[in-house]
Amino acid sequence: MSLEVHSHYMRMATKLAKYALDHDETPVACIFVHTPTNRVVAYGMNDTNRSLTGIAHAEFMGIAQIQSKFGVQDTSIFKSITLYVTVEPCIMCASALKQLGVQKVVFGCGNERFGGNGSILSIHKDSCTAPQNKHWSIPGILRKEAIMLLRYFYVRENERSPKPRAKANRKLDKSKFPPMDWTLYLSRDEFESVFDSLLLKHYDDSTDLSDTLNWGLIDDNQDRFFSHLKDECEQFCLQTAKKPKPQTVS
Ligand SMILES: [Zn+2]
Repeated sequence: MSLEVHSHYMRMATKLAKYALDHDETPVACIFVHTPTNRVVAYGMNDTNRSLTGIAHAEFMGIAQIQSKFGVQDTSIFKSITLYVTVEPCIMCASALKQLGVQKVVFGCGNERFGGNGSILSIHKDSCTAPQNKHWSIPGILRKEAIMLLRYFYVRENERSPKPRAKANRKLDKSKFPPMDWTLYLSRDEFESVFDSLLLKHYDDSTDLSDTLNWGLIDDNQDRFFSHLKDECEQFCLQTAKKPKPQTVS
């Protein structure tokens, strides 16, 4: 799939992360795309704050949506899924995605503390768990937008805190971003095959694919987008409703 296609779906994931931010959640979100039909099957938003459940990560919420449609036993659909997620899956989610056999993972910014697709571990291509399910992982699409949403969240959380941390009280930085270390995630050859040789300067210079940041994704209200996304996912469910329901275990 082309960079333009990846960017299209990552814009959707970023809008959903903004929706999560506007509804008091950590702005991390994902879109599950059925590659053969290019249609969105499910979405997920971080739900840890509302549910007070530490494992309610965006990927798990989306996986639960898919399993509610296709059953828990039949995981074959995941082999046709490309996941677009604003932040690199953590080690827990990366392992779940691999065991389910997800086809590909595309993400925005790295997860420096818990990343399972290159930042800390490379679960997606290791040989420990479900070695038959290695998959491609493509980083750095709309990375600055993903970082900016997280900055908004942490500044706001700090302002709400009874004891705001002085360091975090500094003015929100909207222009500086850490270097993009592509080498954590892809070899130079892999980068060239995934993107294009014309973009190799970004690999060599540790820079983002785009100089600009799409502020519309950050600033706009995404309530209408969310409503549309929900409808789209429900329609996919209706189209595939002919599938026999999985047997329930008594
Ligand atoms: Zn996770």
